[in-house]
Amino acid sequence: MGRVVFVGAGPGAADLITLRGAQRLAEADVVLFDALTDPALRRFAPQARWIDVGKRGFCAATGQAAIDAMLVRFAVAYAVVVRLKGGDPSVFGRLEEELDALARHGIEAEVVPGVTAALAAAAATQRPLTRRGRGRSVTLTTAMTREGRLEAGRHADTEVFYMAGRQLAQLGRRLRAAGWPEDTPVNVVSRAGWPDQLASDHALAGLAQAALLHAGRPTVVVVGAGAAVPPARSPKPEPAQVGLACSGL
Ligand code: SAH
Repeated sequence: MGRVVFVGAGPGAADLITLRGAQRLAEADVVLFDALTDPALRRFAPQARWIDVGKRGFCAATGQAAIDAMLVRFAVAYAVVVRLKGGDPSVFGRLEEELDALARHGIEAEVVPGVTAALAAAAATQRPLTRRGRGRSVTLTTAMTREGRLEAGRHADTEVFYMAGRQLAQLGRRLRAAGWPEDTPVNVVSRAGWPDQLASDHALAGLAQAALLHAGRPTVVVVGAGAAVPPARSPKPEPAQVGLACSGL
């Protein structure tokens, strides 16, 4: 009987995986990987058999029950099975179901953490999610309920929404209804951690405008304190503009 190692691949480029994650890949006989993981990670486990079990949004490829069964089957046949997940396995990663399936069969498991998308977004924009004196709490929230409804509230100084990229207009409406002011800073970041990462700034009232820019890309939405441009970095007027302003006096 083998063991299964859940490895967080990080949110994007292969070099965002942890050293421990890469070491476990080097020991793997088989790797079951998700759609959002970088194909370049294969260089860490050229010896292994790589199997795509990717799911993306609601266009499910391999059903969860099939993945659970596959994990068990491979753990019986191989010494080391790596289950490679995008970001961190413990954040919206269906980790619990897979751990439960292994436990039911007495199969040993280990979890290696990874960089979750919210943290990669903060790194991309160089905007800390916690702010001294202004941002004491952060939530990681999926806007989608299990029944497929979009829900959003106001629970922390900074809220990071996952899986809302396709419904930004509706997310904006729900957040306003939950009491966030219209001018709340919102930062939308897609493909954080990849060379083509994109970030855009919005006031909550204009969040819908981000939809086109980030369409079809994995996206997180940072709302509140952590989305604000730090005062020292807010754009300074160009000398020409200063001149113009002065000429009006
Ligand atoms: N376990 C993953 C999240 C899986 S859920 C993690 O820890 O990051 C999938 C959602 O994560 C996507 O719908 C999107 O909201 C977000 N996501 C994943 N990768 C991302 C990236 N590189 N940039 C922005 N958002 C990302």
